[in-house]
Amino acid sequence: MRNLITGGAGFIGSHLCEWLLAQGQRVLAIDDFSTGRHDNIAHLENHSLFTLVCASITDEQIVRECVAQVDRVFHLASAVGVRLIVEQPVKTIETIVHGTSVVLQACARYRRPVLLTSTSEVYGKANKVPFSEDDDLVIGPAFRRRWAYACSKALDEFLAMAYWHHSRLPVVIVRLFNTVGPRQTGQYGMVVPRFVRQALAGEPLTVYGDGSQTRCFCHVKDAVGALVKLMDHPGARGQIFNVGSQEEVSIRELAERVIRIVGSSSKIVYIPFDQAFGPDFEDMQRRVPDLRKVQQLIGFQPRYQLDDIIRDVAAYLSGRMTSGFPGY
Ligand code: UDP
Repeated sequence: MRNLITGGAGFIGSHLCEWLLAQGQRVLAIDDFSTGRHDNIAHLENHSLFTLVCASITDEQIVRECVAQVDRVFHLASAVGVRLIVEQPVKTIETIVHGTSVVLQACARYRRPVLLTSTSEVYGKANKVPFSEDDDLVIGPAFRRRWAYACSKALDEFLAMAYWHHSRLPVVIVRLFNTVGPRQTGQYGMVVPRFVRQALAGEPLTVYGDGSQTRCFCHVKDAVGALVKLMDHPGARGQIFNVGSQEEVSIRELAERVIRIVGSSSKIVYIPFDQAFGPDFEDMQRRVPDLRKVQQLIGFQPRYQLDDIIRDVAAYLSGRMTSGFPGY
């Protein structure tokens, strides 16, 4: 099987490359290194089944050439991270919406099955627990920049579903819930690598708001296994799936656990949201996935607990920090 992975040098993309190569499959990765890192895939570059193309997914000709060479496409390339979205809203919207349009057009042209990674962010400010795939998406107003991400990713989902309905292009949509693990950087705001790095450096852990908001963190290896199984399963086509963990933790407790597991003497500081992200910022209070659909189809069950995830991230980051690697 020949696979194209857009965003192949990214955090999740690089783990997916490894997973498929370990199965003896070919991988063509495309990445423009905007948030992807060469360091993530440097160990794969000499692998005989791995090819890397340095280009943007908005380059129509290159994307067409890549899609023509493969049997199927995992479309992961995207602007990610709340901080990046708040700081670079124009680029975020254009990359997500235009890039996905280019990828889907090429997949339609060559009739290649495509899996699109979406996000739990699309559930927006709905307060249902847990979120199910057929729930309404409740997105805030356009002057609150955060919602640009949810809205752009939701549009990608609509476009993919439109191709499915219009021409039966095989599409699978996966809404990932707070995927974390080695290689994720805290640069774009993600809380687990930020807290672990702060704890390792003996700096205060920066909890935004009062820390009562909750999330469920899923190890990237669990998420990537689900992506491959869903792509392999004909019953997944034309469908949307939540993928994540149901181990819910408040951000305050997450900070306490990181300090304990890392064995750090760091303190916790509480930072108001407007100080962290500027005025008019909204956060979600709870975000838990309903996993019944993905469990029924592929028997998905996360294998990693939160404490394992924190240990894995700490092992990775401490190695990077002692070797003086920039950006962590
Ligand atoms: N968060 C925090 N301190 C940080 C970074 C994030 O308290 O240094 C909070 C953030 O406000 C949110 C939660 O942690 O409530 C998860 O943030 P992340 O950006 O990892 O994911 P998302 O907001 O997309 O769930």
